Amino acid sequence: VIANRLHDVQDALRAGETTCVKLVEEALARAEASDLNAFVELFPESAMAQAQAVDAKLANGTAGLLAGMVMSIKDNLVYAGHQSSASSNILKDFTSPYSATAVQRLIDADAIIIGRSGCDEFAMGSSNETSAHGPVKNPVDPTKTPGGSSGGPASAVGAGIVQASLGTDTGGSIRQPAAFCGIYGTKPTYGRVSRYGAIAYASSFDQIGPFARSLDDLALVTQVISGADAHDSTCSELEVPDMRAGEAPERMTLGYYPEVVEHDALSPALRDAWAAYKTTLTDAGHELRPLAMPHLDALVPIYYILTTAEASSNLSRYDGMRYGHRAEGDLPLEDLYKQSRSEGFGTEVKRRIMLGTFVLSAGYFDAYYTKAQKARRVVRDQTLADLSQVDAIIGPTTPHVAFDLGKEYSDPTTLYLEDIFTVQAPIAGIPAMSFPAGTDDNGMPFGWQIMSNRFDEPKMFAIARALEALS
Ligand code: GLN
Repeated sequence: VIANRLHDVQDALRAGETTCVKLVEEALARAEASDLNAFVELFPESAMAQAQAVDAKLANGTAGLLAGMVMSIKDNLVYAGHQSSASSNILKDFTSPYSATAVQRLIDADAIIIGRSGCDEFAMGSSNETSAHGPVKNPVDPTKTPGGSSGGPASAVGAGIVQASLGTDTGGSIRQPAAFCGIYGTKPTYGRVSRYGAIAYASSFDQIGPFARSLDDLALVTQVISGADAHDSTCSELEVPDMRAGEAPERMTLGYYPEVVEHDALSPALRDAWAAYKTTLTDAGHELRPLAMPHLDALVPIYYILTTAEASSNLSRYDGMRYGHRAEGDLPLEDLYKQSRSEGFGTEVKRRIMLGTFVLSAGYFDAYYTKAQKARRVVRDQTLADLSQVDAIIGPTTPHVAFDLGKEYSDPTTLYLEDIFTVQAPIAGIPAMSFPAGTDDNGMPFGWQIMSNRFDEPKMFAIARALEALS
């Protein structure tokens, strides 16, 4: 298995104990041997070419920050000359003519991308089961979900096939799988990372972010992919700080929501773990400050009204003409659209397009969309006010550990409740991360989530480092 820190890999490279070519060969072999379904496709040719190029740069001293980092990318990020499908049949066989900014920045920093990892279709889901490429398995227990929607990238890192990966997080799709797979994951501040080349789900929520096996690598990859981009006007012009050089106060004030840690959905194992952790934190001299979260039950409805609205608009471009699968036969235009979209999209995506179209419809727009926008502002303002009086907000990332694959849901909203703790951050636009917190009696991992102020990722990582040093 792979080292947890790129630092150690780079030491080995410098000492001549290994080469990028060897690292890539080993990673590809692990991917081939794995039956987790963590990859939709491997890119052996471009990966080997990159490895050779980076080895040459290492030899002449021009290698970039991520030299030697073997990575995979989520199947909803485009990479020039390679296929990306958002794990949907409607984009089957789509080859991108350009690379996402985040992907290009990885390559420019000499990371090596060995393949694309599957996800829920168009990043809509919490279990990776809506993927057109089949479910991905959890590396800790293959009968369980790795989480979603970035299940493939999380599983690939959790299994030690790759050192790090890129996912996207709209409502928790990086943090929840990170928690389920026992690894690190972060959703940066909205606007920290360019969304150019991320196949859009809900544009005012989507952010690209990394999975890693150590905090160090998490911060490093976040740093490399961050920063202004002429291709994305919502991307911040703020300078990118050294993501590993943040500082945490010696005695921290950590906010938490009693409504969250006492929520009915929280499993007994996590409830107990949280109670014990609270004691650990206070014993170490940190202050745990209860904050009020009067809107907890509104978070998931706000999220699903706004994201489905945005999705219905974003996904209108897949009509079989401009993009995507086209139905066979000589059909009149309207029928061609209908048939192409009916064949190409899966059930969950169709459900969300219909929901989004409904909340945007003339008769209901004010009752749902406008109201949810107003509620979003209330939650954002409250979240920022909460953050102004603490160093960070902390709590469980998910209500429970990874659940069984293949569970039947009579009501899709059951699965929507999985996101109850993770949607606050994207509603408010703030950064958040999940770090490994321990395992339950069956050895299944769970994570603690840290939410921080906008553009305060270095401090968030520093707090995580301080917390990690405690256990
Ligand atoms: N599970 C959430 C959803 O289904 C989050 C997905 C995401 O963050 N992309 O929308």
